[in-house]
Amino acid sequence: MTAPILRSLAELRDLTATWKRAGESIGVVPTMGALHAGHLSLAQAARVGCDRVIVTIFVNPKQFNNPEDLENYPRTEHEDAEKLAPLGIDAIYVPGPDEVYPSGFATNVSVSGLTDVMEGEFRPGHFDGVATVVAKLFLQTSADRAYFGQKDYQQLMLVTRMARDLDIPTEVIGCPTVREPSGLAMSSRNLRLSDEGLTKAAQLNPIMQDVAQALAQGASFAPLAKQARDRLEQAGFTGIEYFDLRCATSLEALDTPTRRARMLAAAWMEGVRLIDNIEVPMV
Ligand code: AMP
Repeated sequence: MTAPILRSLAELRDLTATWKRAGESIGVVPTMGALHAGHLSLAQAARVGCDRVIVTIFVNPKQFNNPEDLENYPRTEHEDAEKLAPLGIDAIYVPGPDEVYPSGFATNVSVSGLTDVMEGEFRPGHFDGVATVVAKLFLQTSADRAYFGQKDYQQLMLVTRMARDLDIPTEVIGCPTVREPSGLAMSSRNLRLSDEGLTKAAQLNPIMQDVAQALAQGASFAPLAKQARDRLEQAGFTGIEYFDLRCATSLEALDTPTRRARMLAAAWMEGVRLIDNIEVPMV
């Protein structure tokens, strides 16, 4: 059965109040729609972990630093509701822009440090938009737990920090990246790639895995990253924005994974910006 679609905060609050009175736990999965198996895996994790599950769909204008990207972002609400139907979630919250940013809205949530690098460097303002909307969604839904993908690793770190710093009692849970059989991380933006672009884009993950393997054998990152960038260019990527090895918690740059580490990359294919990251074992 399709879950009810709620469009106003008043309706959402009525529903969550009845759940809270009954002592039920609430899980939220914030999304921008155009749902794929990655999003659905988060909804499934929430279904297992919580009594009630809300999936939110809001294409948040504040987190788009590029107006063209906002305009081109796929919007597929009807299909999204159908994909969620078999999962037995309790509500889909699709707020209009005024429910999130009412007239006169003047507050900005900004997390420093973690947001200075990588996505923060190449998408100015993006993380303030994310932190602000996620803080609002946590408070609007009264969620006990919120499910985020490791696909957006830096975002996961940022949202965890934000909830902790603001004493928002929503526990942030990170879930594994879901990939196409080719290894390409699923993303709503993949819809904008041609078949050829999809094949080329699938090179990103194996190139990262090769670097991880060399790191495990004791090689240092700088020369490996240079080779990897060359390989990505040969594969058809343009504008490799970053290809970094970083501490998995502080996101400090590393040259060898002497701590729990993460390799993260962003690059363009056919005018579409793609990101990926993998865990790198400590040596
Ligand atoms: P988005 O709709 O792109 O804002 O993503 C909403 C949530 O889904 C975020 O927590 C993302 O990290 C997560 N997500 C997106 N793609 C994937 C994926 N391939 N695997 C797991 N989670 C994902």
